[in-house]
Amino acid sequence: MKAVQYRKVGANPEVVEIDTPTPGPGQVLLKVTAAGLCHSDIFVMSLPEEAYTYGLPLTLGHEGVGVIVDAGEAAKHSVSIGESVMVYGPWGCGRCRQCAEGYENYCTEAARLGIRPPGLGAPGAAAEYMIVDDPRHCVPIGDLDPVTAAPITDAGLTPYHAVKRSIDKLGANSTAVVLGVGGLGHVAIQLIKHLTSADVIALDTVPDHLDLARSVGADHALASNQDAVAAVKDLTHGLGADVVFDFVGITPTIALGAQMCKVRGDWDIVGVGDGVAQVGFFKVPYACRVSTSYWGTRTDLVELVELAQRGVLTVHTETYTLDQAPVAYQKLRDHQVRGRAVLVP
Ligand code: NAD
Ligand code: ZN
Ligand code: ZN
Repeated sequence: MKAVQYRKVGANPEVVEIDTPTPGPGQVLLKVTAAGLCHSDIFVMSLPEEAYTYGLPLTLGHEGVGVIVDAGEAAKHSVSIGESVMVYGPWGCGRCRQCAEGYENYCTEAARLGIRPPGLGAPGAAAEYMIVDDPRHCVPIGDLDPVTAAPITDAGLTPYHAVKRSIDKLGANSTAVVLGVGGLGHVAIQLIKHLTSADVIALDTVPDHLDLARSVGADHALASNQDAVAAVKDLTHGLGADVVFDFVGITPTIALGAQMCKVRGDWDIVGVGDGVAQVGFFKVPYACRVSTSYWGTRTDLVELVELAQRGVLTVHTETYTLDQAPVAYQKLRDHQVRGRAVLVP
């Protein structure tokens, strides 16, 4: 089968022919119908040799949708052949305290047990077929379109989890800042508008992405630069935003987040970049909660699929074939993707 693989640290991903996998005991085989490309793939492929821990060759893709075509012993009775499913990506042990409480994305045993998410250690969705380690990771999508469903598994799930964690701060007359209107950010805006009564101020460096922000419901869309701090203060009676969601996580956006957050606000750092937040007295407003946030729970994903089925989300996508994956990744690196780039094998 065809697969998109990262094969050498520092090199571009390649489209290669590899053996079609066979599901082992407990595993499920999907014929992939869509695979979203995430900026985290770019992050992984930017790591130097000594920091790279994902194994080589790595079949990319952690946003997968496919049709169940086979299952190994012990999984056969829990899946329906022919069913269209999306893959819940943050695989955990299923047994530790975090997993037991439903927070498999924060599993404390996965690393020790060598359990890695597909596309981030285990073979991913950027291929004609993929293996899913357990039927519980297969979430039925009904008649959702695979192309717009694939980004829901991460570009949707990650902001949904982050917004839910800060929802108590987003009541009447509140303001949320969304830094970075890419795959995650453009879904985040829609979720904030749907789930809360907050005004959304979106910031990006690319004018086209600011247009996208407005089209999906941002109340204000501003160039992401130092002037934006005064603009956010003006729009919030001098107080700052109740919640700052940073979907970039680089030094310039961390600097903006620190200046835009309100007293008793939340500063949620979701982007995986080189930015480091300085937290301490006089570094952040009083009682400001600063936190990172990783992916989402399976419950979050099921809720989000229901929202998508009710037509609440408009996921903007650009589609590419597997052969075009290296080009799509280059566009993602250059901030030239509008919404999400999705591979259709
Ligand atoms: P993306 O490339 O689709 O979007 C990034 C957006 O940020 C683009 O619109 C880009 O124009 C914009 N941007 C770049 N520099 C900016 C700046 N200085 N100010 C404002 N905007 C700027 O990326 P994505 O796939 O949406 O991922 C966003 C970030 O979230 C990445 O760092 C990714 O690694 C991370 N991520 C984290 C999780 C998690 O679980 N925490 C999950 C998925 C992705
Ligand atoms: Zn991702
Ligand atoms: Zn666990």
